[in-house]
Amino acid sequence: MSALTLQNLQTIIQKSGIGILILDSDLIIRLCNLWFYRYSSLTPADVENKHFFEVFSDLRETRIENSIRFCLDEKQYSILTHTLNPYPFPLYENNKAKVENKRMYQYLHIIPIPVNDSGKSLCMIQISDVSQQVIRENMLREQMNLATTTKEEAIRASNAKSDFLASMSHEIRTPLNSILGMTELMEETKLTEDQREYIEVLRNSGKALFNIINDILDFSRIEAGKLEIDNHPFSLTNVIDETLSLFFLRAKNKGIRLDSEISPNLSSSVYGDPIRIQQVLINLLGNAIKFTQEGSISVSVYQDFDLEYHKEILVIEVKDTGMGIPPEKLEKIFESFTQVDSSTTRQFGGTGLGLAISKKLTELMGGRIFLTSQLSKGSTFIIKLPYLPYIDNVHLMVTSWEGIEVPEPENFPKLKILLTEDSPENVFLVQSFLRKYPIEIDVAENGQIALDKTEQTKYDLVLMDMQMPIMDGNDAILRIRERELKKHTKTKDSLPIIALTANVAKEDISKSFEAGCNSYLTKPVKKMDLLRLLFFYTKKD
Ligand code: ADP
Repeated sequence: MSALTLQNLQTIIQKSGIGILILDSDLIIRLCNLWFYRYSSLTPADVENKHFFEVFSDLRETRIENSIRFCLDEKQYSILTHTLNPYPFPLYENNKAKVENKRMYQYLHIIPIPVNDSGKSLCMIQISDVSQQVIRENMLREQMNLATTTKEEAIRASNAKSDFLASMSHEIRTPLNSILGMTELMEETKLTEDQREYIEVLRNSGKALFNIINDILDFSRIEAGKLEIDNHPFSLTNVIDETLSLFFLRAKNKGIRLDSEISPNLSSSVYGDPIRIQQVLINLLGNAIKFTQEGSISVSVYQDFDLEYHKEILVIEVKDTGMGIPPEKLEKIFESFTQVDSSTTRQFGGTGLGLAISKKLTELMGGRIFLTSQLSKGSTFIIKLPYLPYIDNVHLMVTSWEGIEVPEPENFPKLKILLTEDSPENVFLVQSFLRKYPIEIDVAENGQIALDKTEQTKYDLVLMDMQMPIMDGNDAILRIRERELKKHTKTKDSLPIIALTANVAKEDISKSFEAGCNSYLTKPVKKMDLLRLLFFYTKKD
């Protein structure tokens, strides 16, 4: 190939797809290419052989002047991006932009070009149009900002929803607590057969309402990522047996057999969250009984090796001989608020949340849930969880008051307790529960009054409601404990405080423990639980 001629080189510069200006060491413009003329309103007569700052006077004392001088004096190369001065030269993408005086975004290279051996340089200014790139960047940035804002808004909305549901559930639980408590008390009175039946309906409806509230609360907590799994060693057999025992009567009444088979090879103690496993099982068994008219329901528990994940797993199967689920609905029914057909609610009740919660809980526990089903033949729900046998012979300490025997009223210890509760109905309920017992009950309507009363009077125990006006339960507990600390009260002499909480959320309960309560009772308070707890925390041995 023959060498390029001077003319070739000139054509290349003139037809280049970028703007080129060449200045000599006196800042006289020696060359300006066609691209520059096309996109500016200038003609060769305006530019050529003119002093650079005569043509572009507004570029004096700018970074461009510095860079040009740097280029000519120091022979240094500079790049000026569009970030600080996006459009230094009067260049426009088209006539419309020219009329509107909307300059194009420019990206500059300022390059020294050595001239012979004179030691002098020319300065070449290359100008690229980066408008499209900047527009894309801006759009992308806007989309990212929008995505971040949308995500933040979604998180805020979800938190607001969860807070709303938590406080709504509290508001509903408190009166429901009184309704159920009163029903329990009414059951102890003399009743006609009719009245007993009415009360049973009342109690069952109350309980059903509780379950729905709990489902909604759980679901919103899972959605907001607030539900935590609490793993510890527990007896799997006990949890399965205990859960089945909740359903025997219902199964019997429907004429359905309910049995279980737990593999003898399983470790007697496993590591996991018994409450959540039980919650999933309750959902599945509840459904199995609801949707089975005849036949049987069986629960099998065994250990298996998962070939896909290469690990030992614990399998819990709940199999029924019920109405089954059509194939096209198999996946769908794990979605929230989904039922096989819309008549289900009318016929069987339910919210369509049970399986959605079960699926999320199983996944939070590191497992999976499956379903096989045949219409009119039955369904099998299979839960696969990580199998973590707990091999430790140390007997688990019984630290709780659950299951302890309570003496009859005449042998019950004489006690003076403080009930801190702002709802007169709940006060009446506790007073009624303890009427036959030698227990003197003082009442404080809020945390501040409780703080004062516990300073003036020696109580054997304090029952402390959590949500109260003026000073809430946690604050009051915290202050009572601070006072004990100042007085150097010994642990054995410290005042037993039991939190009464309408909110079953784990983090609310841990907050009460952090404040310093000894134990807690969730509302609706049951008479037996209250007595066990009072006895446990006040017995002197
Ligand atoms: P709910 O029971 O409150 O309606 P679930 O999420 O627990 O909500 O169940 C969703 C739907 O899946 C049910 O309404 C029912 O149509 C179907 N389903 C669940 N379990 C079974 C079962 N064992 N047999 C037949 N259908 C079932």
